[in-house]
Amino acid sequence: MSPERGDSDRKRPRLAPVAVLADCFEAGVEQATVFVSPITDRKLISGVIQRLTNESPLQKFPHLKRVRRTESGMEIILCTDKDDLAKLTSIEGIDVDRIREHKVALNAPLTRTQYQESSLLWPTHFHENKEIESSLDGTFFEVQELQRIHELMRATIIHSNDADKEDSNAVTIVNPATDTVLAMASSCRDEHPALHATLVALDLVARLQGGGAWQTGIPTRAVEEEAQVPFDEEVPYICTGYDVYMLREPCAMCAMALVHSRIRRAFYGVADPIHGSLGSRYKIHCLGGLNHSFKVWKSIMPRECRRALNRINLVSY
Ligand SMILES: [Zn+2]
Repeated sequence: MSPERGDSDRKRPRLAPVAVLADCFEAGVEQATVFVSPITDRKLISGVIQRLTNESPLQKFPHLKRVRRTESGMEIILCTDKDDLAKLTSIEGIDVDRIREHKVALNAPLTRTQYQESSLLWPTHFHENKEIESSLDGTFFEVQELQRIHELMRATIIHSNDADKEDSNAVTIVNPATDTVLAMASSCRDEHPALHATLVALDLVARLQGGGAWQTGIPTRAVEEEAQVPFDEEVPYICTGYDVYMLREPCAMCAMALVHSRIRRAFYGVADPIHGSLGSRYKIHCLGGLNHSFKVWKSIMPRECRRALNRINLVSY
């Protein structure tokens, strides 16, 4: 296992949502050992590189640059396996007496932070993923979109206040393409233990499309205007392209339901270290092997969400 650093420690814009990324983007740099040698004469370096490229290619380390400058000259990676050293010592330009082990980054850096750490060990290639970087530094959303995200979370909080339920975690599902709220729901666990707020909201969206599984008196609503719109045959599945807002990080059951419904993005206010499955206990949204993945953002108005959840002083999912 690689060491983990947790959330980025760089300075973030105030109120910026925190992206919940796969562990590989937040991990520290794992190290590997290679064998290096000083170059005895700079004029020989191109010949040394050519010989090593042919006889000892760095197939497992394509992210590493072969040569680096040092205070005393140039240094080159000979090989990664000690058994290969013997066949390389005859190459003109290698200082056989000063061959040594050296630590390098095991994997290609995925983020600028990893790149900087890797480069402290040995020069490394890096292809920046602007989406990942902006997710990490809190600049992913434009101001207008961030305002809308907060408006929708605020509406979800208000729904939880309005719901005439003791157990009132709340969830909103939105079609961002039309900026339409499709469903707002609160937990109905007093009617059935599986009726967590997220499942109820998903079922309401399914109802809009002529489906739905629960036939209970759920005191929640699907937005009537949207319900009057005929089901679009081009929509491939329940929540394709839709966003979900939740006061609290969902449990594993609800997180899997979001996978199955093909949700586009999930936003939540408060992490749940015990049951949370989109960042805390598990990261179900970025598990390999599932047929769908989606983006997750946390810490959306966390104080307001926590206040709403504490108000009922009950655990709800
Ligand atoms: Zn749940």
